[in-house]
Amino acid sequence: MTGSLVYVSHRGGVAVLMVDNPPVNAFTHQVRVSLLDAINQALADPDVTALVLTAAGKTFMAGSDIREFDFAIKQPHLDVLNATLEGAAKPAIAAIHGTALGGGLEIALACHYRVAASDAKVGLPEVHLGIIPGAGGTQRLPRLIGIERALEMIQSGRHVSANEALKLGVIDEIAAGDLLLAAVTAAEKCVAAATIRRTRELTPPGQVPTSFFADRRAAIAKSHRGFPAPLGAIDAVEASLRPFDEGKAIENEISSRLKATNESKSLRYLFFGEREVARIPDVPKDTPLRDIRRVGVVGAGTMGRGIALSLLAGGYAVVLIETRQDALDRGVAAIDQVLARDVEKRRLSSEAKAARLAKLTPALDLNALANADLVVEAAFEDMAVKKELFARLDRTCRPGAILASNTSTLDLNVIAAATRRPGDVIGTHFFSPAHIMRLLEIVRGDATAKDVVATLMNVAKRINKVGVLSGVCFGFIGNRMFEGYVRESQSMLLEGATPAQIDKALTEFGMAMGPCAVIDLAGVDVSFLTREGNRAHLPPDPAYCLMGDNLHHLGRFGQKTGRGFFRYDGGKAAEDGEVIDLARAEAARLGIAQRRIDDAEIVARCITPLISEAAQILDERIALRAVDIDVVWCTGYGFPRYRGGPLKHADTIGIDAVVSGMAGLAAKLGNAYGYWTPAPLLQRLADTGGSFSAYAPGT
Ligand code: NAD
Repeated sequence: MTGSLVYVSHRGGVAVLMVDNPPVNAFTHQVRVSLLDAINQALADPDVTALVLTAAGKTFMAGSDIREFDFAIKQPHLDVLNATLEGAAKPAIAAIHGTALGGGLEIALACHYRVAASDAKVGLPEVHLGIIPGAGGTQRLPRLIGIERALEMIQSGRHVSANEALKLGVIDEIAAGDLLLAAVTAAEKCVAAATIRRTRELTPPGQVPTSFFADRRAAIAKSHRGFPAPLGAIDAVEASLRPFDEGKAIENEISSRLKATNESKSLRYLFFGEREVARIPDVPKDTPLRDIRRVGVVGAGTMGRGIALSLLAGGYAVVLIETRQDALDRGVAAIDQVLARDVEKRRLSSEAKAARLAKLTPALDLNALANADLVVEAAFEDMAVKKELFARLDRTCRPGAILASNTSTLDLNVIAAATRRPGDVIGTHFFSPAHIMRLLEIVRGDATAKDVVATLMNVAKRINKVGVLSGVCFGFIGNRMFEGYVRESQSMLLEGATPAQIDKALTEFGMAMGPCAVIDLAGVDVSFLTREGNRAHLPPDPAYCLMGDNLHHLGRFGQKTGRGFFRYDGGKAAEDGEVIDLARAEAARLGIAQRRIDDAEIVARCITPLISEAAQILDERIALRAVDIDVVWCTGYGFPRYRGGPLKHADTIGIDAVVSGMAGLAAKLGNAYGYWTPAPLLQRLADTGGSFSAYAPGT
């Protein structure tokens, strides 16, 4: 035994080194020290003929300790362990179970032979943190599986199944039975064969065309503008064509350069942020949870179907309620179709599909929810409907059952007041398509009980969503911010920009989709109706979302009608002269002079309102922390993760710059409606040299 992090046992001449650092056997400094010590002892021990590297618990080493990234990595670096193992005169075998990711796979690549359990997964996901594998992954993987495949694995960062890994050559064997036994047997065979296959001595198999790297760089420069990690991966993998040590030096240089970028820092901030959002200061971690097994979903429309799918995937029994048989049948058929597609795409086995469907009970009578533990209401967005439904649910459901509403805009406190159990009422704001989007805003009403909040945060986790707590306000965190973003995009249409130009500027900034395409997808009618619900609070600005209102009146509802901000012929969005003419006519009517608007102005006008509104949301304590807002926008609204979210982005470009940018826009555009007046918190941070990351609520 070395420390308590690596256990050593012997099977004949084979030393089995088992890393034991729960929960995921991350390569902390202490693990590296202990493991190097164990490796050296085994190599020095004349009775040891070979080494097997394995890990305790549910997984092989799942990667490095990301918290160490902000500091100079303390020796021994993982490279030292890898070089020691690879250079050893005794065979070293990796026995992989669970997931061997990042540094975990890199050490396995430095071993001489890799055996994996049949359900193991491997991958080099560093690109998701804005870096590249820095412990030889970019040099060894191409030597095993070829340049093209290695680059694909490194750039996508995807998890590769044991079967695929075997086909590719990442691993050498899938254990038929006991993994450790297979690894020890492999070690004995290597000893008997007296040959050692060192990855560093191999040449990448196959050849790539001469234009390969240039083509990849051009493609990435287009698709990942402003995000340097995938380009770094190309450079590093290209270096694997050189002698190992030269290539490794290039990998080192790129890896340290990328670690210091704002993009990597932002991605790491989000990585921790997605965990941080589960922490609710006044709801202790040990709050007892309510037991949730049976969940009712009321409404089998767009959202109800996706919500039911998510709950089924999380293992819950689901009762799906509709008012009419045909609507119920359509909902069940849609659920079946999504699952069938998952089976077709091999994302799900047909047994798993059958098991999920067996847990789905369609019903027309609300009484079917009498013994539900949680009900998620996804009926029409109409306060009268919701109040009536919640009053009935309150009468029908057992005491202690949680009643949740998927409302996007209605006041949760009013809905809760329709029941005799406001403490059991909560908002669960899913995003469309609900079975795919990871964000779940959990809306805490004035009366919502703490254990109800804790229980829903836990449900979110179980259905693989990122639950973010929001207070009650119109639009909650995400949609409330979306309002100013959309307002500006539509005002610029009147001022002379086209939908394609607006969307291009914002997708080049990194947004997954531009605002015009998003509204066409979600529905011009949906966005119009949301505005209608809030008319009384909108500014008296005649240009305010005028284009959206007009398109709605013209029946141009977006993708579903083939016309919206764009026209959709054959499904592809194209600029539509009618929309541009309409904007010109409306501008003339309102006396707005059209002009050329450059991309920088488009980005500033759309992103700045996001930041200012977010500051206000933070100040009103609708969101708990800046990072909660950033997680909402990165997981639910396609904000570029490598910018960390609107508030992290504000910190990166400087709060001063945001505030002076607003002053510049006010001077240029006028400020009749206060659009360019910084929210008080934003101004305070600018005045005091503060930042959103360092901001503590109440200060
Ligand atoms: P939808 O019109 O597609 O579906 C609503 C379904 O509820 C219909 O099938 C209807 O028959 C059924 N229904 C109505 N009253 C019912 C009742 N009393 N009992 C049982 N079923 C009833 O609407 P949707 O888009 O799924 O929206 C549902 C809710 O989710 C709304 O509150 C909406 O604001 C919210 N929401 C929608 C989106 C979105 O993108 N569509 C996103 C987030 C939240």
